[in-house]
Amino acid sequence: MTRAVAIFKSFLLLEFITAFRLCMKYFFKPKPTVNYPFEKGPLSPRFRGEHALRRYANGEERCIACKLCEAVCPALAITIEAEERDDGSRRTTRYDIDMTKCIYCGFCEEACPVDAIVLGPNFETPTETREELFYDKEKLLGNGERWEREIARNLELDAPYR
Ligand code: SF4
Ligand code: SF4
Repeated sequence: MTRAVAIFKSFLLLEFITAFRLCMKYFFKPKPTVNYPFEKGPLSPRFRGEHALRRYANGEERCIACKLCEAVCPALAITIEAEERDDGSRRTTRYDIDMTKCIYCGFCEEACPVDAIVLGPNFETPTETREELFYDKEKLLGNGERWEREIARNLELDAPYR
């Protein structure tokens, strides 16, 4: 009986030493977790986040109202109306995306011949109401202005692989 108790105690001690070594090993390793939202992990240049409509450096809208994005969208989330300007160029009068339908496939971005509609790096898009998920042109252009620097850099990084 005494011998059995001694073996059991040795076993417990061994277990304790193993656990302690394991604990110390990970205690001094760099932490894999981040303190979100104060810290954020890296994002791929191909990350597909919130949509944005871009402008050229002179402020002109890139979108030429070709409606390819609307046609390719498998979720039928995009609605575009367009008209011709006095200078003969076509521009949208309405550009809506129903984010409750969008599946973030990225087809709209792929189809766009002028890199106007893009899926930017913003993934923090929670809303309190459903209505806020119906994006209009003003909202999308605003996203473009807010994220243009990151979007342009991501497109440049991804360009060799396109
Ligand atoms: S990401 Fe896909 S589903 Fe969403 S708007 Fe673009 S084409 Fe449509
Ligand atoms: S966003 Fe691009 S694909 Fe869509 S209508 Fe404008 S130019 Fe055409």
